[in-house]
Amino acid sequence: MLEQTLKNNNIKPTTIRLLVLRKLIESETALSLSDLVENIEQADRATLYRTLKTFENKNLIHSIDDGSGSVKYGLCAVGCGYKLQDQHIHFHCMKCEETYCLTQTKIPRIQIPIGFETANANMVLKGTCANCSSTLQYSCITFIRIFAFNENHVLHIEFLLYGAGWASMC
Ligand SMILES: [Zn+2]
Ligand SMILES: [Zn+2]
Repeated sequence: MLEQTLKNNNIKPTTIRLLVLRKLIESETALSLSDLVENIEQADRATLYRTLKTFENKNLIHSIDDGSGSVKYGLCAVGCGYKLQDQHIHFHCMKCEETYCLTQTKIPRIQIPIGFETANANMVLKGTCANCSSTLQYSCITFIRIFAFNENHVLHIEFLLYGAGWASMC
């Protein structure tokens, strides 16, 4: 099944690629290169990095800038072209520092000034994940960052929402 997943994305199966794919599938959260280095002894950092880049170029995984300074990688949904309308929200837990793909929650369309055309978007919510919520009083900080750009313009919008009223999200 793992081999078939690689073949479906035009990636030649190798031992290391299969190991990396297994780790990504087994993980509940998105993984960083360092996470893989810690967990896969059979390959060095450079090989694992190349493997991630191959997966990313073949649309098997997507990279996530969660604002933590360490790029994470999450699996793409089958058939996902990673077009704007396919892009989902990511959630970064400030307690355990894990990053989740909220694949069922798409990035909402937002109004931007006339003349701007969105080509890509990155939305990261920050707060407390379900695994940590029982141990933290609810006081969430939600950080939303959206990049919208085309060849002529770069638009960077940041929202920072502090709220204790987000009980359902915390
Ligand atoms: Zn957490
Ligand atoms: Zn994701």
